[in-house]
Amino acid sequence: MKIDQLNQLIDCLEDALPQTQCTKCAYPDCRGYANALASGEVLPNRCPPGGIDGILRLSQILEPIFPHDAFELHPTIDPECGLERPRPVALIDPKACIGCTLCIQACPVDAIVGASKQMHVVLSDWCTGCDLCIPPCPVDCITMIDVTANQTGWDAWSTELADIARARYHARDIRLDREERDNDARLAKKANAKLAVINAENPSSEEAKKEQERKRAIIAAAMARVQQKNHGS
Ligand code: SF4
Ligand code: SF4
Ligand code: SF4
Repeated sequence: MKIDQLNQLIDCLEDALPQTQCTKCAYPDCRGYANALASGEVLPNRCPPGGIDGILRLSQILEPIFPHDAFELHPTIDPECGLERPRPVALIDPKACIGCTLCIQACPVDAIVGASKQMHVVLSDWCTGCDLCIPPCPVDCITMIDVTANQTGWDAWSTELADIARARYHARDIRLDREERDNDARLAKKANAKLAVINAENPSSEEAKKEQERKRAIIAAAMARVQQKNHGS
């Protein structure tokens, strides 16, 4: 398959995924699972949020390339990935929350607001029900509440909600990238200031000169690591 055809296939598969970015498929995000599906390395039954309907959608796209008749006849979500279930939304118990911010860091769509040592709140309109905020909470004060009664999979979700979740996921990526670069710039400024102080020293003994060189080397290595990371990203 040519590279542009492969990319079209990946785009098409990604569009058919719910975009909760929950990682239940064992890939880092929906795009990652779409990539794996397009390469034929996994079956289309690893996405619990998409449910049985999701398997059929993916199978229809993949069928001309990798026949998956068995899934169209007997579709079942791989139990290793979880169960198809009503769509939940996270709810934080305000009395128990200690404001540690760990849930914010885990949320792939920035659906939680709050500051350090202050109560956190889930913006339920944006919550995809991915469960990723549950494990890091040190006081177990987040509960998942079903909001779609008996409706599951794509019956409990929509293309519009998937598009919003994908946009929020990408916006979060951009925010994290910007914050990392800002932090690197701050550290580089601090390192340069420290280097200027060290360079201004006038060591009088051999031992002091060695110490000055040692400090310079530590700062140079730290700055090189930051530069290498930025060039590699
Ligand atoms: S919704 Fe979750 S399980 Fe489905 S493809 Fe996206 S990350 Fe994987
Ligand atoms: S609030 Fe929790 S369950 Fe909802 S999207 Fe964020 S991490 Fe997922
Ligand atoms: S992880 Fe739990 S305790 Fe920490 S801010 Fe989130 S809800 Fe509060």
